[in-house]
Amino acid sequence: MTMDHPFKEEIGKMKDWLVEIRRKIHMHPELGFEEVETSKLVSEWLEPFGLQVKRGIAKTGVVGLLQGSEPGRTVAIRADMDALPLDEANQVPYVSKVKGKMHACGHDAHVAILLGVAKYFSSIKDPLKGNIKWIFQPAEEGGGGGRVMVEEGVLENPKVDAIFGAHVFPLLPIGKVGIYEREGLAATDRVVIKIIGKGGHAASPHLTKDPIFAAGHLITQIHSIVSRNINPLDSAVITIGKIGGGTAFNIIPDEVDLLGTVRSLNPQVREALKLRIEQVIQGVVCSFGLDYHYDFEYGYPVLINDSEMSKLVVTACSRGIGKENVEVLKPSMGGEDFAYYLEKVPGSFFRLGCRNEEKGIIHPYHSSLFNIDEEVLPFGVEMFVRIIDQYLGLNMI
Ligand SMILES: [Zn+2]
Ligand SMILES: [Zn+2]
Repeated sequence: MTMDHPFKEEIGKMKDWLVEIRRKIHMHPELGFEEVETSKLVSEWLEPFGLQVKRGIAKTGVVGLLQGSEPGRTVAIRADMDALPLDEANQVPYVSKVKGKMHACGHDAHVAILLGVAKYFSSIKDPLKGNIKWIFQPAEEGGGGGRVMVEEGVLENPKVDAIFGAHVFPLLPIGKVGIYEREGLAATDRVVIKIIGKGGHAASPHLTKDPIFAAGHLITQIHSIVSRNINPLDSAVITIGKIGGGTAFNIIPDEVDLLGTVRSLNPQVREALKLRIEQVIQGVVCSFGLDYHYDFEYGYPVLINDSEMSKLVVTACSRGIGKENVEVLKPSMGGEDFAYYLEKVPGSFFRLGCRNEEKGIIHPYHSSLFNIDEEVLPFGVEMFVRIIDQYLGLNMI
């Protein structure tokens, strides 16, 4: 049987404060590696809690450390701080004040939740066994701020033994947690393809090498890779998202450019896709007597949770909300740079339901109408406190 613990009451009292923080950040969104004001605010909020605060890691990253009075393990928790380049369409009093920028992925909530965890642990009178590290990173949305944070040593001094990160999740209702047992999110690589032909008059195609015609065949053929070359029990996506070439109806251009994303959930599939795409380009383009240029640009790696750490998340969260409110999720073919931390230390990335149909909070990530049910703020604090308690063996709860 679960009962309301004083700690839950304590977190409940924080709600207005958490909402204020989230809205303040929401109104002043900043893009990746430009989170100057956000990072300043984070430091100012952290310092009174008695944490050791370091700024300027990976440009705008902030790290806070609470060193326990008793020896123990070091656990890290992470929030991303960046917003996205779009105009907000929500009509709320705390709408983005910056044209062309919006917190449409909920990173404002992640920052507020981690600050709530800091506030909670700073208020604990009992001695802390072990250390807690707070990682506020820049540039999750494509900039790979997580990779830079790792390169700049955030997992050292003291060495992090385990790391946990959460993302608000509009597909799950408020009050629920989603967990990936192992693979959670995909490797997100880019392919850059140039088909090089020979332009000329549209009425004399026989005197040209038409790259637009070849591009049509290539796009069709490239989609055979996932269906014919990848094991159906593995997952892969190839999407050509951009194509460009030509200037007029009566000109055959010299070149066509194609840009695409390639997603996979394990390194073998990732390498197979890289190789097979080039073989298909070569085969198709050469059959038309054209030439090509191909780049496969590695993006974020696959996010792979440590299964023991995921079990710990399930146990810790279930204690608060019941097993029925913790859902095991299938992996998503989206990407997440939390993967870089998980390449170095065991940990788990989980989801916090933020959907509320009654309040009309139903829009997906990166939508100009994205929003969260702010109940997720104290809820997220509670889940992190439970996970930390469990990992460090504090037995506070
Ligand atoms: Zn996003
Ligand atoms: Zn995000």
